[in-house]
Amino acid sequence: ASYSFEGKTILITGGAGDIGRATAHRFASDRANIVLLDLNAAKMADVAQELAQYKVSVATFSCDVTSSDDVNKAFASAIEQFGRIDYVFNNAGYQGLFTTTDEYPEDDFQKVLDINVAGVFHVLKAAAQHMRESGGAIANTASYAGVVGPPNMLAYAASKFAVIGMTQTAAKDLAPYGIRVNAISPALIGPGMMWTRQTELQAAVGSQYFSSNPKQVEQQMIDSVPMRRLGSLEEVANGVAFLMSDEASYITGFNLEITGG
Ligand code: NAD
Repeated sequence: ASYSFEGKTILITGGAGDIGRATAHRFASDRANIVLLDLNAAKMADVAQELAQYKVSVATFSCDVTSSDDVNKAFASAIEQFGRIDYVFNNAGYQGLFTTTDEYPEDDFQKVLDINVAGVFHVLKAAAQHMRESGGAIANTASYAGVVGPPNMLAYAASKFAVIGMTQTAAKDLAPYGIRVNAISPALIGPGMMWTRQTELQAAVGSQYFSSNPKQVEQQMIDSVPMRRLGSLEEVANGVAFLMSDEASYITGFNLEITGG
C-alpha cells in the first residue's frame, strides 16, 4: 500500500545506511518531508541528493546518537526548520563484533550498548519531549536478534532485547500524549552492509553453527528462513510506513517481526 504522508515530516537516524535510506525513499515517495541524522555526513549527502527527485523538503544533520547533546541540537534545528516532526524512525545501529561469549571484548560490548541502547534512548527522549505537545509516532529498529539471541552476537542481542523493552515502556509512558511507539525486528535483510558483514564474520568465527565459507553461510542462513529468501530493504521500509500510518492508529508497544517466518 502507499500512504499519503503529505505535509508530514519524518526524522530518520542512521539515515545514510541501507534501511534508513530505503525508508527515506519510501516516505519521500509518499510525500513526507525528510530529516536525516547520521554520523556519516558524506553518505548522508548522497542520500539527500537521491531524494531530490521526489520534490519534498530534505534536511541532513551530522549527529552522533551516543551524545544526547548532538541529538538535542539536531532535533532543535530540525524543528526550527520544519515546525514539527510527526514521525521518528529511531534506526541508527551497530552490529558489533562476532565472537563467542567467553571471548567477547569489553570495549566492543560497551560500544554496542552506547549506540544501540543509549543512542535509542537519547532519540526516544528528544522525540517524546517534542511530540508530547501534539502527538506523533515513533518506530525503533530492534532486530530478530532481540527476540531470539543468535550465536556469536552477545552485545548485539543484549542491545536489541533492550530496544524491545524500551519500546514497551515508552509506549506506556507516552500513550497519554497521543504518541505511539513500536519496534521493527528485521532478520535476514539484503543485499546490504549488514548481510555481507554477518555472513563473512560468522564464517570467520568457525563455530559449530555456520560453515567457515561465507558463501555457504549465506545458504545456511537462507535455508533457516521459512520463505527461503532474504527480505528486501523495501520490505523493511513497508513495515515502518504501516506502523507510522493512521492504519496503525490503535497499535502501540508492538514489535513487528519482518523475518519471512
Ligand atoms: P547500516 O550500517 O547500513 O546503517 C546504519 C547507519 O547507522 C549507518 O549509516 C551509520 O553511519 C549509522 N550510525 C552508526 N552509529 C551511529 C551513531 N553513533 N550516530 C549516528 N549514526 C550512526 O545498517 P542497516 O542495515 O541500515 O541498519 C539499520 C538498523 O537496522 C540498525 O539498527 C540495525 O541494527 C538494524 N537491523 C539491520 C538488519 C539487516 O539485516 N540489515 C537486521 C536487523 C536489524
